[in-house]
Amino acid sequence: MTNCDALIVGGGPAGSTCARALRQAGWNVIVIDRARFPRDKVCAGWLTPDVFRLLDLAPAEYRDAGLTLQEITGFRTGLLRGPSLDTPYAHVVSYAIRRREFDEYLLRRARVHVREQTALTSLRRDGRVWAANEEIRTPFVIGAGGHFCPVARRLRDRAAPSPPIVAKEAEYRLDGRGSTVAPNVAEFFFCNDLDGYGWCVRKGGYLNVGIGRRGGPHFNAHVNDFVSFLESSGKAPGASRLQWRGHAYLASGVGPRPVVADGLLLIGDAAGLACPESGEGIRPAIESARLAAQTVIAAGGRHGVEALLPYQAAVSRLHPRVHGASAVVRSVQAAIGRALLRSPAFTRHVVLDRWFLRRS
Ligand SMILES: Cc1cc2nc3c(=O)[nH]c(=O)nc-3n(C[C@H](O)[C@H](O)[C@H](O)COP(=O)(O)OP(=O)(O)OC[C@H]3O[C@@H](n4cnc5c(N)ncnc54)[C@H](O)[C@@H]3O)c2cc1C
Repeated sequence: MTNCDALIVGGGPAGSTCARALRQAGWNVIVIDRARFPRDKVCAGWLTPDVFRLLDLAPAEYRDAGLTLQEITGFRTGLLRGPSLDTPYAHVVSYAIRRREFDEYLLRRARVHVREQTALTSLRRDGRVWAANEEIRTPFVIGAGGHFCPVARRLRDRAAPSPPIVAKEAEYRLDGRGSTVAPNVAEFFFCNDLDGYGWCVRKGGYLNVGIGRRGGPHFNAHVNDFVSFLESSGKAPGASRLQWRGHAYLASGVGPRPVVADGLLLIGDAAGLACPESGEGIRPAIESARLAAQTVIAAGGRHGVEALLPYQAAVSRLHPRVHGASAVVRSVQAAIGRALLRSPAFTRHVVLDRWFLRRS
């Protein structure tokens, strides 16, 4: 058995951020991940500006490491197949990265022990600590394994089920293939019921296209409609022949979900913290990872659930409950929303600044 101060299950942005924060506080941390890095992650890779600040990383430093960093200075928005609106900004308002590069960079930068191609297969109480895979003994296990995190399953059984965001995307090198999508303009096209949207995001010589929706009914019909829109608009000619990959994850705000138990904490997608309006999950993953690290450090050697409750409270403050509306109210809201999407002021100040860029 190997002993460590904390075991982190999953080396995505949540796991690597938490690992780095704990290592900087002098903790002996092990990260296990079932994948071998660099690994692909189904994701548009669009980042709000806060992400680099929270990571304590200058965008220039990231680019200088030879990694793809697409600056975004404007947005094109509208309803799928409706008129679109361009919203330019005078400066860089966000970035797009490739997840296989970004996640590996953050994981190596954490400078902790990483065991790749190692899935969590067993977790049991061994006196006052946890025994993982019958190999690692530790007082703290931090679940950062994404939507299907095995640590989260232990806590989620007790929580009310909630419908996930379902999404499909394709990312490919343009290699001379045409696209009308400009490198510095991210494009978002909302479904008619406003329950989801499709996107087109350039990352240098790569194009990422995808669609995500709250809940699954008729999802494939929405995907097919989006694919034919990509082809007919010239945004992604040949889109139906791309390799589309799907994934699901949970948005925050649907009610209380336990994120702590004795010696256990959930962070990132394992805790279900994606932003309900935009589906952004990378920033909440990093934010929650930092909060979890602060909580276990402040616990000063205590690892019972009471010592970890400040983390549950901090997550609830960051992601307050959003009350669901009835079907009638939602259809009225959607009708108003469709009209408002034609307004340049509403699009800039509410849709983009508040919901997508989260500028206060
Ligand atoms: C199609 C799509 C598009 C998206 N676009 C955006 C976007 O543009 N911007 C944005 O901010 N967010 C986006 N998101 C959300 C974002 O991808 C996630 O919220 C984010 O990756 C969460 O990070 P994480 O570290 O919690 O989990 P992950 O990034 O999923 O990392 C989890 C890690 O755990 C490992 N793991 C899983 N199971 C085990 C196990 N049993 N044992 C060991 N390791 C395990 C995995 O291999 C993985 O490396 C998108 C999501 C989807 C599906």
